[in-house]
Amino acid sequence: MKYNRTYNFSAGPATMPEPVLEEIRDEMMNYRGSGMCVMEMSHRSPVYQQIIDEAEQDLRDLMGIPDNYKVLFIQGGATLQFAMIPMNLMKNGVACYVETGAWSKKAIAEAKKYGEVHVVASSKDKNYTYVPDCDDLDIPENTDYVYICENETIHGVTWQKLPNTKGHILVSDQSSMFLSKPCNVSDYGLIYAGVQKNVGPAGMVVVIIREDLIRDDLDPKVPLYMSYKTHADNGSMYNTPNCWAIYVCGKVFKYLKSIGGLEAMEQRNIEKAKVMYDFLDSSKMFRGTVEKKDRSLMNIPFVTESKELDAKVVAATKAAGYDNLKGHKSVGGLRASVYNAMPKEGVEALVEFLKKFEAENS
Ligand SMILES: *Cc1c(COP(=O)(O)O)cnc(C)c1O
Repeated sequence: MKYNRTYNFSAGPATMPEPVLEEIRDEMMNYRGSGMCVMEMSHRSPVYQQIIDEAEQDLRDLMGIPDNYKVLFIQGGATLQFAMIPMNLMKNGVACYVETGAWSKKAIAEAKKYGEVHVVASSKDKNYTYVPDCDDLDIPENTDYVYICENETIHGVTWQKLPNTKGHILVSDQSSMFLSKPCNVSDYGLIYAGVQKNVGPAGMVVVIIREDLIRDDLDPKVPLYMSYKTHADNGSMYNTPNCWAIYVCGKVFKYLKSIGGLEAMEQRNIEKAKVMYDFLDSSKMFRGTVEKKDRSLMNIPFVTESKELDAKVVAATKAAGYDNLKGHKSVGGLRASVYNAMPKEGVEALVEFLKKFEAENS
């Protein structure tokens, strides 16, 4: 490997495309003749304005975002959205949530502070190893929105088909699958994604929100920063934005365009995940924990027969240059996060290593 880097299977912050890191390196000391690094620049300068404008436009091109949706760059990560969503979207004070794992569970707990929350479907009965059938949910008429986490980063389940919201607004946490495949934005009222999983550095969230959901009649106690209107009216620059993250994300958007956009990315992701799942399905030592139909292309949890062996595998992979494979503490076992920027060769090399480990230890 060119830079003696490890294959990094971290769930987030996560591996980045090398061509993007190289460009950033080249622009570090003097960004395109400006005489300074992007992290030293005024966010009110014309040179920075161009960076944020291009980032937004490239994202719009990639996802085909319709004109009646705003793109907002907000700080506070994905977690702040657990509160911002109910604060901004609960008009009647009622919302429906689908519980599919750790991240939707956290969102539910936060939303309960702001209104009446109906958990209309859950996969808790089988420790969040599948996505429940959501074709005919019991949704109250006055529901303000229906909320899902479209890819559960910790449990490794993903939605293949969106829920039937019966005409209500769909809100989706796409943090760990953002830009991993094409997305029909008009199916949603609001999409959001913390960028450190599949796009850029930590500390920022992208919110894509249909304009008519941006309100000017919020409770006056809602902090200014937590009103979508504040961000929409000020081009994501009401205060100093996360300038660096926006710059890096912009580079990743351009990179994705250069490799053929989200269709091409999805194809690569399917092929890459297949390498791992084919191995898990043929192994006698390792097995995937999620029902086949709901398996994530991004986060692949797997286990051996015992905690002791799991720990041994984690240590052996780390020593061999495959990092961050320990499963989340709530699930245990192992987890390979194979986001957009993980090359197929990385997964192939890991699988070869695990095969050898299995042969030598069984
Ligand atoms: C990581 C993650 C979050 C939380 O992101 P932060 O930026 O740490 O707040 C929320 N939802 C999902 C699906 C995640 O993967």
